[in-house]
Amino acid sequence: MVKSSKKEKNETATPPESDTFNINLFVTMLESSCRIQVSTALYFFRKAFASIHDGSDILIRDQFYVRIKNGVLNALRSEILDVDGEINAVWIITNMCCISKEVTHLFVNSNVLEVLTQLIRSSNPRLSNQSIWAIANISADCVSCKTMCRRPKLLKILSKMLQNSHQLEDTERRQLIWCINNILTGGRATMLAPVARSFIRTFSNLILDTEVIERMNCAPMVLWTLANLVDITHDTTRIDMLQSQTNLVEHVILLFLDENEKQSHAAALRLLGNIAVGSDTQTDHLLTKINFRYVLHRAMSIPEHHCEVAWIYSNIVAGAVRHVDFVLEDSDRFYGWLLSGINSDIPRFRKESLWIVGNLLATADEYQRSQLVEFGIINHLPDLLKYDDGRLNEKGAVTATELLREHPWQYRLYKDLDILGCIDALGPQYSTQKAELQMLLNELEPPKRMEKHPECRVVCYSKLPNDSSI
Ligand SMILES: [Zn+2]
Repeated sequence: MVKSSKKEKNETATPPESDTFNINLFVTMLESSCRIQVSTALYFFRKAFASIHDGSDILIRDQFYVRIKNGVLNALRSEILDVDGEINAVWIITNMCCISKEVTHLFVNSNVLEVLTQLIRSSNPRLSNQSIWAIANISADCVSCKTMCRRPKLLKILSKMLQNSHQLEDTERRQLIWCINNILTGGRATMLAPVARSFIRTFSNLILDTEVIERMNCAPMVLWTLANLVDITHDTTRIDMLQSQTNLVEHVILLFLDENEKQSHAAALRLLGNIAVGSDTQTDHLLTKINFRYVLHRAMSIPEHHCEVAWIYSNIVAGAVRHVDFVLEDSDRFYGWLLSGINSDIPRFRKESLWIVGNLLATADEYQRSQLVEFGIINHLPDLLKYDDGRLNEKGAVTATELLREHPWQYRLYKDLDILGCIDALGPQYSTQKAELQMLLNELEPPKRMEKHPECRVVCYSKLPNDSSI
């Protein structure tokens, strides 16, 4: 069997006419109603398509692909094949779905997933495993194919199989995990709550079983799958399901802090970040985990995690005043690091850092805002107002006046930074905010000192008079 890696279609050679003739012969056999002929053709094509990936000489022109696809699917649907024939047929699908998007779509548009959903439940483990492999390849093709694989019936079957996967050999079990991981990559997968609960519970138990995880070397894959399962913003009950798994979050935190588990760090951090996206109560649970602050500190000290941890911070401070406290308790370390993000050349780090500023300003109470002003947050208002993101511009524009009203001694800085000009440049939709700020700036404007008032005299003593009694 070949791996699922996508290979460019080999178009460099044109097969001799005799080869084309042979392939035509096998295609004709595949289309016959004789079980022996069909089985022989399936065996031939299984070998031929596997050899594409091995770099051998057998080349099947794409003019045959549609007929082969029809022949393979008809053979599977007709139920004339023995189990070896079925395995060969699914094996062909597995390999053809690695050739190109066009070929994969030929199969998907002919309802191959319905056929595979039937075969995956076969009592023959080889046939079931080969079907899983084919589905894994199809789901890795493109977003549309992945969405097709997220059919409720298939997800339900896969969740059941995963529940019982301790009965499988390690290779087959890993294959199943990889298939589910491919289908759920990208998050936002809708599924029935019992199916989601089953996935979350089984993957949680799996990641906590360190012996099995090490043996199968699949910690990152399991963590990514869990992260994708809870990556669905309109359904935070998934995060509840995750947080109700005993010791799971603690274990993920420790994995991130373990230097020997580096390959799992990115996935562990994403999983923790997806919890921080949840409700205020869910974030509370995360922040009260003893080692969670160390996770943030560690991530802040490693450049490859900067963008991710900035995104996590922006979500933490997006919720409740008490979460802003959590961040400000650590202000010395945090604020310097935030400054480096705002001034970073890395676009995502800068973007997430500005979101931290925007969310901090929107969430903080009056006392917290005064702390932020002392740190110099006013200096970043122009960054928010000039950034190419309407939601950040809005956060800057609506808080600018309030901040100045609470901290009128920032007047000079507002003038120097031309914050009014920044709001003006955003366009007429911010005319209300501009007018409010303009009015406040006018109120705060200090009285002008008369430069050369005729009545004003300055008496300058170079020395005190000698007879002074002062
Ligand atoms: Zn596709």
